[in-house]
Amino acid sequence: MGEFDLIERHFKRPARRAALGIGDDCALLQPAPGTQWAISSDMLVEGHHFLSTVDPFKLGHKALAVNLSDLAACGAKPVAFTLALALPRADEAWLAPFSKGLLALADHHRCELVGGDTTQGPLNICITVFGEVPVVGGRSQALLRSGARAGDDIYVSGTVGDARLALEVFRGTVSVPAPVFDAARLRMEQPTPRVALGLALRGVATSAIDISDGLLGDLGHILKQSGVGATVEVATVVNLIAALASYTGSRGSFDAEIPAQDWQRWALSGGDDYELLFTAPVAHRAAVAQAAEQSQTPVTRIGQIEAHRGLRLVDAQGQAVANNFTSFDHFA
Ligand code: ADP
Ligand code: MG
Repeated sequence: MGEFDLIERHFKRPARRAALGIGDDCALLQPAPGTQWAISSDMLVEGHHFLSTVDPFKLGHKALAVNLSDLAACGAKPVAFTLALALPRADEAWLAPFSKGLLALADHHRCELVGGDTTQGPLNICITVFGEVPVVGGRSQALLRSGARAGDDIYVSGTVGDARLALEVFRGTVSVPAPVFDAARLRMEQPTPRVALGLALRGVATSAIDISDGLLGDLGHILKQSGVGATVEVATVVNLIAALASYTGSRGSFDAEIPAQDWQRWALSGGDDYELLFTAPVAHRAAVAQAAEQSQTPVTRIGQIEAHRGLRLVDAQGQAVANNFTSFDHFA
């Protein structure tokens, strides 16, 4: 199978929203009147972002999911994407499930594959997504990292820490009962981009980011770009690990095998969660609850934005907790 057969067979679909899709030197996209493009790229490299043994269907899903998550964080509606793929070889048994997983998620979000590049090389998947954001009265409705204000509540969607738990199990540093691992593994391999929530938060949230490198590190980006500080309740965040309840439920409580500090580290700085972390004024609490309901996405208030710079962690009693959690950095 040659390069062009491969594209034709696995990636080419009839153009829908695009004026011109796959097959020419460029794709053509027309922004809808009164909108602007939100554009983001994310690359997945074997051994760094995924294990070589991962199911190609799930990898196809994840490669697009992490990109859609960036659109969600900006409150952008997915429209189209391109796929640049380096493959060691043209392997049907890998390509068929990979494109299936990728295009299933694409169809779910009506996000159209409009072009890309295919080359031989070490497995590497780079996707660029294009999303739409309304411009109202000359003002972009995009959610940015820079809009948090002192007094705002801090929220996180869904669950955090489970992807990191699954990674630790794969690495052999911890072990958990099979059902606990299976649920955590699903979060690692097939994250859910919070697109509907991002859209519902336009005009409600003051800032947003998606959690890819760890909750505290990503919150740090909001704090820095907004010029503010924050206090975060550690126990509230730790309770957002879905696996925690099933693990402690199967064991009765925390135990020496997995110390409380490990759970804290996974929740606060584990990464690969692809949940939305966002801020909103106290006056918008009802609107946030409505956005959560409308998008059928749970959200939890985990702390407060403050004028005093820096990030402070507190326990359930409001006592200070030392912050020695570091987030993921490829070059650190
Ligand atoms: P060029 O050499 O002019 O860059 P290519 O021959 O690489 O074009 O690609 C031919 C067409 O197939 C282009 O429209 C390109 O966008 C598309 N394409 C290539 N690889 C992929 C891919 N992995 N997924 C989707 N479209 C692709
Ligand atoms: Mg090319």
